[in-house]
Amino acid sequence: MHRRALWGRDDEVETFFGREREAIPSERGNLVTQHIFVTGGVVSSLGKGLTSASIGMLLENMGLRVAMQKFDPYINVDPGTMNPYQHGEVYVTPDGLEADLDLGHYERFTHAVVNKHSNYTTGKIYSSVIAKERRGEYLGQTVQVIPHITNEIKEAVRRMSGPDIDVAITEIGGTVGDIESLPFLEAARQFALDAGREKVMYIHLTLIPYLRASHEIKTKPTQQSVGKLREIGIIPDILICRSEVPLADDVRSKISLFCNVPKEAVIDEKDVDFSIYEIPAMLADQRIDELIVRRLGLGARRPDLSRWKQMLHLIQHPEGEVTIAIVGKYLELQDAYKSIYESLAHAGIANRLKVHIKKVSADDVEKVGMERYMAGVGGILVPGGFGGRGIEGKVHAAQYARERRVPYFGLCLGMQVAVIEFARTVCGLTRANSTEFDSATPNPVIHMMEHQKSIMDKGGTMRLGEYPCDLRAGTRASEAYQAERITERHRHRYEFNNAYRKVFEEKGARFSGICPQNDLVEIFEIADHPWFVGVQFHPEFRSRPTNAHPLFREFVRAAKERERAKSATALEPASPRAGV
Ligand code: GLN
Repeated sequence: MHRRALWGRDDEVETFFGREREAIPSERGNLVTQHIFVTGGVVSSLGKGLTSASIGMLLENMGLRVAMQKFDPYINVDPGTMNPYQHGEVYVTPDGLEADLDLGHYERFTHAVVNKHSNYTTGKIYSSVIAKERRGEYLGQTVQVIPHITNEIKEAVRRMSGPDIDVAITEIGGTVGDIESLPFLEAARQFALDAGREKVMYIHLTLIPYLRASHEIKTKPTQQSVGKLREIGIIPDILICRSEVPLADDVRSKISLFCNVPKEAVIDEKDVDFSIYEIPAMLADQRIDELIVRRLGLGARRPDLSRWKQMLHLIQHPEGEVTIAIVGKYLELQDAYKSIYESLAHAGIANRLKVHIKKVSADDVEKVGMERYMAGVGGILVPGGFGGRGIEGKVHAAQYARERRVPYFGLCLGMQVAVIEFARTVCGLTRANSTEFDSATPNPVIHMMEHQKSIMDKGGTMRLGEYPCDLRAGTRASEAYQAERITERHRHRYEFNNAYRKVFEEKGARFSGICPQNDLVEIFEIADHPWFVGVQFHPEFRSRPTNAHPLFREFVRAAKERERAKSATALEPASPRAGV
């Protein structure tokens, strides 16, 4: 299925803008998938993921069905065991692949199906080739980078093709000129040889640096990076130039001449003013959509960005603001909680608010408490995480939110710490803990399921991917989702220990979401509280700018309400009994 329904309904997709368009049948009646490869040059972190996602969004908007894929040239088999400081957030696909965070951009900008074929690393490609070699599938041949590794890569690209896909966009991670990226670029070149040059398009993203001292912009790095690509045999059809300042006409002419790309195919992607969601409109203004459909011989209408622009307008003209404190570990790095920051921004759009984020280190909360970080804060969010560092700070944040009636949203570990806190303070189980942090705790309120204990290999032991969850009526969760059954994505080893369910309920906890497959607690709420919700899953992977995740939306709404209520009390005349 091309378009996926959200929040448990299969037949329609509701958004705060109204009903989303129906699945768009291919208007070409052509069963051949065309391929676009997106490469990057000069430096890393140019935003290839966002640019690829934006192109996907435009094509989809034009009535084409899009698939998206990312190649990562590192040797790790997947980013699941990589340090968030180095790699940022680990994204999770519905079928349980631990993947690169660019897949999050793909899902936020498009409705493309994202699955285990959407992300391949060098490690994954090599593992597969080596396994085939061990099974004797190469019939005694010498196994080499060309053709065996490149064939494996091309096979991965072909998995994106199919009668229901018009255009597959494959982003090649890394920078042209890196040793690691070479097999992927070589495979991308060969792909056109196999499929036909007319069915394949190359888009190269590059940097045009601006030298402030001399007020000059420099095209040389771009020329060199395109030169490197041409050495491999790839001539880009479109050059997208990241720049701080707009490209003057003569600069475009120069780039066109030196890089052998038509002038109208030199696209200017200058730094955005206020939101990453501006990028599709910026590209459409320069008619990138026309270049693509003309080059690939696709029949499609021009994109209609009116709804998207309405969303941009809301970002630019909020009616108010609210601050959310995130109590976490990897706060210096923008990418470590990427999807959470985006989901909060989406929730802001849905509430017509600008959401400010206050990053609070869990280690600091452990030392000095929560109070001093609370000035101007409307709600507290505790994100997911692994390992014991900062845990007591997070437990304290949950306690603060519960006792002071501050809206609280706990994601995965954020739910687990709220459970630990509730057990210790409300149920009187003072040494309650998760067995992840204290294997000898007398009250393992969070523990590992028996069957999980037997598979201890890191990287393969987690509950990963989508699971259904039944919602209990009359709870915050069912109020937000407006559904009886939902599906959400998971990535964790530990679970709520059902032995404690009764005690918790007697003390005012509500288990508002239960997995029907295995009776696991998926959502924990506190009944007598303005908004206190912990979820064992990761709702941040399902939020979109035009369709905020219901729990994020309701959390931000509750946070704003608290702020309003607080300022109203501050304005009230002093009680006559004050000072008595
Ligand atoms: N460390 C916890 C677990 O493994 C939580 C994981 C997470 O927050 N993603 O269950």
